[in-house]
Amino acid sequence: MAHVLVIEDDPSIRSSLVRSLGDRGHAVSSARAGLDGLQQALADDPDVVLLDLGLPDLDGHSLLTMLRAVRQTPVIVVTARDDDPSVVRALDAGADDYVVKPFGMDQLEARMRAVLRRTGSDAGEAVLEVGELTIDPASREVVLRGEQLELSRREFDLLHYLAQHAGEVVSKRDVLADVWNQPYGGGERTVDVHLSWLRRKLGESAAHPGYLHSVRGVGIRLAAPADASPDEG
Ligand code: CA
Repeated sequence: MAHVLVIEDDPSIRSSLVRSLGDRGHAVSSARAGLDGLQQALADDPDVVLLDLGLPDLDGHSLLTMLRAVRQTPVIVVTARDDDPSVVRALDAGADDYVVKPFGMDQLEARMRAVLRRTGSDAGEAVLEVGELTIDPASREVVLRGEQLELSRREFDLLHYLAQHAGEVVSKRDVLADVWNQPYGGGERTVDVHLSWLRRKLGESAAHPGYLHSVRGVGIRLAAPADASPDEG
């Protein structure tokens, strides 16, 4: 469910959108004109804006440009024709996607989901894949080469954190701050212990790393075995 702002001057389209989105469990607000819509977008900070390009007072392109100057709120443009050059202008001005009238609610919802995923509004729940390792934060499942791994809560959180920063060297201090909520350090040994448990479950060791690479004096880096540089140990 998302907070959706509908900016549309056609009363029948606006009310049917508000009703259908509401029926699907979204929180919906609406505006019938551009200036009012822009004000609501700034004041209410919705998750996604559905923007009709043909508005009476302020056209959709100008509204988009003004909104983009201050906010990255995802915007899906609603248009009457898909070969409309104004769609290209809208995408150039920062729209995230568009739908062509008349559109079905399933299509609109799929596009909203895709936009929210891409813009990271639900990035914390994205399934992460590193090599043959798949980490699903929604179900808290980890699969390596087709086999599900049994991880403790902390091991999962640690692996998920490293996967969110895959390819980067993460310091143990950052791990302590973000996984253990201990921003002041002093628990590096705890991290080492959990890393060694995690290594065992991944079927590797510090001496023979597969995914988890210690970078001496700096921290730890998660990478697919083929992507790891050979000088790390
Ligand atoms: Ca219109």
